[in-house]
Amino acid sequence: MSLCLQDYNNDTSLCYSKCLSYWANQRGSQCYVTSNETYLPKPNAMKTRTVDAYLINTNISDSGIKQTINGMNTIWNVYGFNFSIESVNNTFSKENESFDGLETDPNRITERLQQHYDFSSSIEKGHIILVFSDMKNPYFGGIHLPNITGVFVASNYRNTSWATSHEAGHILNLWDKPYYSGEINLMTHGGCIRDNFYPTNLNEKQYEMLPK
Ligand SMILES: [Zn+2]
Repeated sequence: MSLCLQDYNNDTSLCYSKCLSYWANQRGSQCYVTSNETYLPKPNAMKTRTVDAYLINTNISDSGIKQTINGMNTIWNVYGFNFSIESVNNTFSKENESFDGLETDPNRITERLQQHYDFSSSIEKGHIILVFSDMKNPYFGGIHLPNITGVFVASNYRNTSWATSHEAGHILNLWDKPYYSGEINLMTHGGCIRDNFYPTNLNEKQYEMLPK
């Protein structure tokens, strides 16, 4: 049952019961979802987070980058955060450098990226590092790169705005919401959720965990 503990930051016994319930209630490919969480706060002010984009082995266009950021802001403005793009670094955008196979290894992704890009100025300025790269796995949206306050996003994913918004949630202190909890929100991924839902909301507890 180690699966039941994956990514979970809540009560363990609750986790086990929700996990069992998930597996008991899944019928074929039909998803078991008890609630699509919706907490809509009234934030006093918008907090801006600056972003430096880095491109490597990708076909994403300038308008694709803009659309991704706009999509992120649609989701995150509701919770008081706005992302603003400061620079786009495309020196290695056409480099033949595949990250396939490293989807679950943020440290190796970071090491490989650092062979191409020097992120020190972004880090010094406190900018979020947003890396776009095309990936073969259609289910891989992105991954959080904690060592460089960054997110690595599959630029050819079917919903890059959602993937980037989810990964930005990790930068803003949030953990994954396990798919087997039955309660879905922006921080849920995996399981049957990944094919069917792109929930954009957070719950109250998550909102309270965001930087003040
Ligand atoms: Zn996640």
